[in-house]
Amino acid sequence: MKETICTIPINDIFEVKEGCPFCRMYDMLENQYATFITGSAMMDPETRVATNEKGFCKKHFQKITQVGKRLPNALILQTHMQKILEDYFPKNTHSKPDKKKLQALQDMQHTCYICDRIQHDVEHFLRTVFKEWETNPQFRKTYQEQEFICLDHYRMVSAISLKGVPAKHQADFHQDTADLAKKQLQLLIEDTTHFCKMFDYQSRGMDWGNSRDAIERDLRFLAGIPLPEEPKPEE
Ligand SMILES: [Zn+2]
Ligand SMILES: [Zn+2]
Repeated sequence: MKETICTIPINDIFEVKEGCPFCRMYDMLENQYATFITGSAMMDPETRVATNEKGFCKKHFQKITQVGKRLPNALILQTHMQKILEDYFPKNTHSKPDKKKLQALQDMQHTCYICDRIQHDVEHFLRTVFKEWETNPQFRKTYQEQEFICLDHYRMVSAISLKGVPAKHQADFHQDTADLAKKQLQLLIEDTTHFCKMFDYQSRGMDWGNSRDAIERDLRFLAGIPLPEEPKPEE
């Protein structure tokens, strides 16, 4: 696989301190790849062969059509579907289902050009994060000051840190990472409990506190679903 064509400015991502930094990194990569595929790479034979073969997951089919123009999208989809027709459908459909072909189709449906590229980039990005956290006290502080780390990225980053962080620093790095996820989880449990309590008649007139959007924040933590955009103030 070609070296990454997308750049991840690690300081820009960690400076924001709102939400999960690794979700911000994913968003940035998804946008960059969707723009790349439907833009300059659309006519690049190597990329087209790969997108024809792999296709995209549901999320990234939606992404490329949101980000790219109609014609590049139609061209990408047309050759991808042509490939599906050739590779997975029998010439004569009046035949028993071909187990091998169905299995191959299922495998293809679970691959995604963008997911695969991102997976590769993330490992690269995490090596930089580990290195910075180890050697740069300012970055370590910025890391600790993140709003939270979501559940999925807590698991992923912790697992990869076992390979990427030297053994003597693994407990410290895990503490920084786990604290960001655990504190958020505890906060969400509190807010969600309060939210539920507000439906009790005995709570009538009580303050909702921070609990009004507890469900939305739960989903952001549990499944990476972004908070709904706040209505823009009238100009
Ligand atoms: Zn995340
Ligand atoms: Zn995908």
